[in-house]
Amino acid sequence: MTNVRVRIAPSPTGPLHLGTARTALFNFLFARHLGGTFIFRLEDTDQARSTEAFEVDIIEGMHWLGIRWDEGPAVAGEPEIGNYGPYRQMQRMASYTEAANRLLAEDKAYYCYCSPDELDVERKRQEASHLPARYNGRCAHLSAEERAAFEREGRRPVVRFRIPEERKIAFDDIVRGHVEIDTNALGGDLVILRSDGTPLYHFTVAVDDAAMEITHVIRGEDHLSNTPKHILLFEALGASIPQFAHLPLILNPDRTKMSKRKTQTSVDAYRMDGFIPEAFVNYLALLGWSTGTEEEVLSLDDLIERFDLAKVNSSGAVFDRERLEWLNGQWIRRLPAPDLIARLRPFLETELAAGRIEWMPSDQEMSALLPVVQERLPTLAAVGELIGFLFQEDVTPDLALLVPKRWDMAATAANLREARGIMAAGRDTWRAHEIEAPLRILVEDRGWKAGDLFMAIRVAVTGRTATPPLFDTLVALGYERTLARVDRAIARLEAGTPPSL
Ligand code: GLU
Repeated sequence: MTNVRVRIAPSPTGPLHLGTARTALFNFLFARHLGGTFIFRLEDTDQARSTEAFEVDIIEGMHWLGIRWDEGPAVAGEPEIGNYGPYRQMQRMASYTEAANRLLAEDKAYYCYCSPDELDVERKRQEASHLPARYNGRCAHLSAEERAAFEREGRRPVVRFRIPEERKIAFDDIVRGHVEIDTNALGGDLVILRSDGTPLYHFTVAVDDAAMEITHVIRGEDHLSNTPKHILLFEALGASIPQFAHLPLILNPDRTKMSKRKTQTSVDAYRMDGFIPEAFVNYLALLGWSTGTEEEVLSLDDLIERFDLAKVNSSGAVFDRERLEWLNGQWIRRLPAPDLIARLRPFLETELAAGRIEWMPSDQEMSALLPVVQERLPTLAAVGELIGFLFQEDVTPDLALLVPKRWDMAATAANLREARGIMAAGRDTWRAHEIEAPLRILVEDRGWKAGDLFMAIRVAVTGRTATPPLFDTLVALGYERTLARVDRAIARLEAGTPPSL
């Protein structure tokens, strides 16, 4: 099955959207699994909203995800490839005019002279009578004289494609099964060219899919209701009709349709948040599809091997950021140390620029830390929160966090002082279990709760309550800096303790 040709056809009117990325991925996986061709086509006819910056964002996002196309336009410094070009709709204008002329000559389309005002009046009339909006067909059968009269009035016509009445358009969607839509629900004859000759979406998509010999149209469910129009256009153009697969909607956690307000939709924002492409692409693949087994952590190659459109679910796929973070953590754990360190660098730079760390750790420092941080990073961006305190001269813990519930300030100061004395003896044996063992004996002797002392030490030296394992943290911080921070905490506690206590 090597004649498979699929495409992703984004409009560069915004940054790469999560939904577009998922659609691109499913097309890519489908093509790669079957040895077919994956095409990238830019639907850039909305010139007012299309920008080169969005094109670059889309291309960079796809590359970041590892999605490569076999045919596509010259874009972001890359040359056009493929024999079905050009792959930008703005460069295909002649083909739309030619196709429209063909439909006009065959009376499958006609010139319509209705003005926007007239259409508006009609639309309002329909609305008032609770009828669905639909072109009333006023220009569907104009005589040559009537047309000439309109032309003399200076009207410039649009071209409308005839939509048959009372016909059911049926197709077997690979995801949704048998679908039937009545042509009466399509709004009447469809404008395919505006009065300035520029083509509209339904027309360009059908003309291009036919010209590019697309065999499978895999796209979001929001396009399902457009499909009958495209099928009618394919028929009229004498093209063969591709198979369709409409992917389930991506939903907000509250199961409403995904919206920017409730779900971060730009792919680049996830990259900036410290998600890694291995995890992101893995997560996108699971938005509506699963292997049918327990397997969840899948590389792009695994996905290509296992992907099956027939296993795509037809019900909506909830975007669950926690699951994405979990998967990201799984992938971060799998990275070789030098790779992870390199990927963390830009995030450490951000911490530095924001003043949250005061110097950049060296690669050696980072590799010493990795055993304790690697499995605790849900995202690369979490590195600052996790180990930033190591790369600051000092920390100023919140006294409220420093004092355990069972102790007061004076007790905390006194108990930390005892612990400090014990730690001070460990200069030459500053290793995790050798710091821990005598502190545990102290806790036993005094009848304290280990968690109270250890939390007080943790907050004293890191300024926070959640860190990598405490004793590894102290080792990473070093003997001198640990004792200095404990001393400062004791001093602050003592200064803050009222004399009467
Ligand atoms: N430009 C359209 C979109 O981004 C393409 C839809 C299609 O795949 O047919 O939604």
